[in-house]
Amino acid sequence: MANYVCSVGMEVHAELATKSKMFCRCQVAFGGEPNTRTCPVCLGLPGAMPVPNRVAIEMVIKTALALNCKIAMNSIFHRKNYFYPDLPKGYQVSQYGEENPLGYHGYLDIPAAGGGTKRIGIRRVHLEEDTGKLMHLPSGGSGVDYNRAGTPLMEIVTDFPPDIHNGDEAKEYMTQLRQILLYLGVCDGKMEEGSMRCEPNISIRPEGQEELGVKSELKNLNSFRSVQLGIAFEVRRQSAMLDAGEKVLQETRGWNEQKESSFAMRLKEAENDYRYFPCPDLVPMQFTEDYVECLRSNLPELPLAKFMRYQKEFGLNDYDANLLTSDVEWARWFEEAIQKGGEPKAICNWMNSEFAKLINEEGILARQSKITPEHLVQLTNLIADGTISGKIAKKVFMDAYQTGKMPAELVKESGSTQITDDSAVRPIIEAVLAANPDVVEKYKSGQQSVRGFLVGQIMRESQGRANPAVVNKLLEELLQ
Ligand code: ZN
Ligand code: MN
Repeated sequence: MANYVCSVGMEVHAELATKSKMFCRCQVAFGGEPNTRTCPVCLGLPGAMPVPNRVAIEMVIKTALALNCKIAMNSIFHRKNYFYPDLPKGYQVSQYGEENPLGYHGYLDIPAAGGGTKRIGIRRVHLEEDTGKLMHLPSGGSGVDYNRAGTPLMEIVTDFPPDIHNGDEAKEYMTQLRQILLYLGVCDGKMEEGSMRCEPNISIRPEGQEELGVKSELKNLNSFRSVQLGIAFEVRRQSAMLDAGEKVLQETRGWNEQKESSFAMRLKEAENDYRYFPCPDLVPMQFTEDYVECLRSNLPELPLAKFMRYQKEFGLNDYDANLLTSDVEWARWFEEAIQKGGEPKAICNWMNSEFAKLINEEGILARQSKITPEHLVQLTNLIADGTISGKIAKKVFMDAYQTGKMPAELVKESGSTQITDDSAVRPIIEAVLAANPDVVEKYKSGQQSVRGFLVGQIMRESQGRANPAVVNKLLEELLQ
């Protein structure tokens, strides 16, 4: 059996998070009663004239800049002609050509498997419009919902020949790309709702062979996991075919989530002839250097840069920095806490453990909970200055989470401040030792392990309020 090299080209479609559609004022939203957000423009009625959405154009340029692309200072829209019922005009407004798309010839760096980063070339980032949706009616037959028709859609295509060579890299590429779109606020990134869709094309060739093999294209991938599994499956399927002396067919295949396997949908004929031509209804776009530079200088800090800064500036490790920066809202929450005087490592630990656990259980976002960055700053400061123990802090946090009260107030109410005073801790220890003479005897005869039991009793007697360091010091003394 030969060794094969796999190549994966990625085509990603992202619906832009604009309020209105690309060429009309209909609202952009998910779901709803079919055909309630339509007008003559997005229904493609004769004589209706499109007006481009400025915000959508800006979102695509921002994304292109974040993906290190060149920007087409003069760019036009084309008509991509084909017939399908989800496309009422008979053509999709899109962008054609090598250097005409709003962004072209860029790259995205992704974390590499062995550490460091790997550069994935990006061929183009262009703007087009989404189609309607065909749906099966409960009464039988099919209908078309045009609510989605005309939604601004951004298409991001990787370079040829591809830089991605397996499902893991493809998944990493999608993860990074999605984070960037969320950081920029240009797409909500919901793969399960189809606002971010990915169609990888996969081919394999024997090691040493220059020319790429015949590729298959995968559709219906609605999670990162299915992207990763789908590609791995295709590599296995194609390898088995080549090993058996068969030929891989150029086809479009669907992904079956339950069976974790792909199935043939249709053979891909020779390159479709879409008869692209400039759309005569839309004026050419022209951008000034000033405009583009202004967008560039206003780009937010991107995920990878933030990840590296958190390690450098706050001394966080890979794991913590990754958890904090993988979600822009979570990162903002963290930064707000630091700005309000929180100690980075302490804030990070609480966020990634207790806090994350509670909001995940409830299925809400940090901002939807009663805990604000101020809460966590106050709580961690109360621990740091010895006012409360770590154990009490967990209870205080829980109460704060439920009531929204500030930690200092909760501590005051419950009188659960930590006991750090020797003279207050000593009697508690003495009482515990007096009540457990047999255990003390065991300890003195060399059975050191019973010490833990004594500490436990002391903490219980003090209702968790005794300072552990003071307890350890005094216990040592009193057991002598
Ligand atoms: Zn409309
Ligand atoms: Mn497209």
